[in-house]
Amino acid sequence: MNRTTPREQRPRPGTPSTESPDSVRPEARGTAVPHAVPDDALVLALDVGGTTMKGEITDITGAALASGVLDTPQGEAAFETMGVLGDQLLARLTPRQRASVARASVVLPGIIDVERSIAVFSANVGWRDVHIGDRFSARWHLPVLIEHDVAVAGWAEWRFGAGRGHDDVCVVILGTGISGTLSVGGRLVRGGIGQTGEYGHISVRHDNGLPCACGNTGCVETVASGASIARAYAARTGRTAGAAEIFGLRDTDTDAKAVLADAVDALADGLVGLIHATCPELIILGGGLAGAGAALTDPLHRALTERLRLVPAPEVVLGEFGARAGLAGAALFARHGELA
Ligand SMILES: [Zn+2]
Repeated sequence: MNRTTPREQRPRPGTPSTESPDSVRPEARGTAVPHAVPDDALVLALDVGGTTMKGEITDITGAALASGVLDTPQGEAAFETMGVLGDQLLARLTPRQRASVARASVVLPGIIDVERSIAVFSANVGWRDVHIGDRFSARWHLPVLIEHDVAVAGWAEWRFGAGRGHDDVCVVILGTGISGTLSVGGRLVRGGIGQTGEYGHISVRHDNGLPCACGNTGCVETVASGASIARAYAARTGRTAGAAEIFGLRDTDTDAKAVLADAVDALADGLVGLIHATCPELIILGGGLAGAGAALTDPLHRALTERLRLVPAPEVVLGEFGARAGLAGAALFARHGELA
């Protein structure tokens, strides 16, 4: 089975269907992978985060005809709110524009089983095994794709952002957690049920490592995530500061400098194995911490150069979509129909 094939929800006809969820998979029906929508079509995109969900209806240039944000409720209630946000955006269009909306995509955090259309687990939003099925396609009368938010954001940076033109690219999204995507030989690597680069849970601190939310100790995330940087700084100084503020203090505050050096070391240690295995030309940094800019890319490139002997250190650059990678990626995914 081609794991990169997205599952597309088709609008259900008016009569009740007796099909099981599996029987409507595109490949099971012999339907080709969804292709790009026409250039003059509009797409609806939803990016669901742990605290808010953002939505847009865009044309081929990426210009938004409607956009909106709603708070993400905890648990399965989040899915009703996704439906409401889509309803609100569609209601803002003229009838002519509404008829031009050709496809939607909903990108979700956590673990997503795209093939079976199940939101398996989200620690942040607190849902487990939610069957999505045709709930959005039936509601909006549109084909709807679902995907994993990091997969979509990384794919967008690779294909349309800082990585365009390169075949071998690692995208690292640095935020509350650390994860990303890997493209090798011009293909986005997907494994298992479609999950991609859980870089934050590569174990790098084998002595005195801190416990990680995943159950292991010494994961990259326990040192290099925004929350871990803030926690380490507070432990050293007794002062509370966010990661962005700590980056701002790096030239004047030796504690800030030490905490950030530790975070960069952990990140470099985590990436070294991946670089030896796949030799990416580029490492693209996205997510909230990428706002630190050269204060992050330069030390990380140095740390990688110090560690690598057999393979060249990849260039380290910032993503071009910034905090919009998820939503912009969702719109591009809806437009193109696959992460290819
Ligand atoms: Zn972990």
